[in-house]
Amino acid sequence: MYVFSNPVGAGSLWFDNLATADAIPVGYDPQARAFLPVGPFCANRERIGCNWIAPRAGAFCRSCAMTALAPDPTIANAVPNWAVTEAAKRWVLDNLGRWHWFRPEDPGTRPVFHMLAEGLTPVQMGHVDGVVTISVAEVDPVVRAARRQALEEPYRTMIGHMRHELAHMLWWRLSLRQDFLDSFRQVFGDERQDYQAALQRHYEAGPPPDWNQRHLTAYAASHPHEDWAETAAHLLHLTDIADSCVAAGVTTPMLPRHDWDPYAEADPGMLMRVAADLAMRVNHINRSMGLADLYPFVLSEVAQRKLAFVHNWLRRGAHGR
Ligand SMILES: [Zn+2]
Ligand SMILES: [Zn+2]
Repeated sequence: MYVFSNPVGAGSLWFDNLATADAIPVGYDPQARAFLPVGPFCANRERIGCNWIAPRAGAFCRSCAMTALAPDPTIANAVPNWAVTEAAKRWVLDNLGRWHWFRPEDPGTRPVFHMLAEGLTPVQMGHVDGVVTISVAEVDPVVRAARRQALEEPYRTMIGHMRHELAHMLWWRLSLRQDFLDSFRQVFGDERQDYQAALQRHYEAGPPPDWNQRHLTAYAASHPHEDWAETAAHLLHLTDIADSCVAAGVTTPMLPRHDWDPYAEADPGMLMRVAADLAMRVNHINRSMGLADLYPFVLSEVAQRKLAFVHNWLRRGAHGR
């Protein structure tokens, strides 16, 4: 993510800022990728702290307009959890927008979001026919840690959920193209195999012992759809790590240029090498505070080939070229 310039004074603005350090209200223009000192601001600004601008007064911003279902506000913490969830969604939509997905220049279908709080029954996250369902309860660190441990995952965040579920949506968009489907099946296998049976097998028997030779995560070994979603989420992780490092001035001798733009990089090998090197450096920085590694994953050769495949399609996919 970029670090943005302040339109009304000195200093920088971060993507989630609602105001400058001098308390002057600002809004983020997702089309211009810049902060503005004037509205119209999103109708969700007061309610959930959305800092994007809206097309007209009283309207939702481009991101909030994609949310068809908001959580039941009578469930404890539903609204503050929803606010954090929408912030993660805006971040990932802006990432995908760098490759033109879901911006006005993208002629394809937009995702519809169902943001659900959890009452007595857990909410199953997922994607079906363009509808992304997200459990806002996972903003709670206790809920998230319990599920991460139960599923033996090294990493679980709301931004990770957004990337994973939107990746399913992107597959659905790309699957309209036969050339995509043919090449997808060569790299990831045939996604027409029984999905429910595959997931049941995964939860009962666990992943094959050598899963990390072929997949980025154990869950990715369950079915080609999940392999794609995990791999595409990781491509977004790695690209955003590289982009955020460049914006923050964290560097490596491997950086091609000081103003290198990872989203414009055509060579997936270069992108992955630089991102992995930067991630390793930030892992080291995190250890100085006793924090978990930023990116606790290993990129096998097969996983790198899959990441390169996803990179190729996400870079050119929104325009259908
Ligand atoms: Zn909004
Ligand atoms: Zn999935």
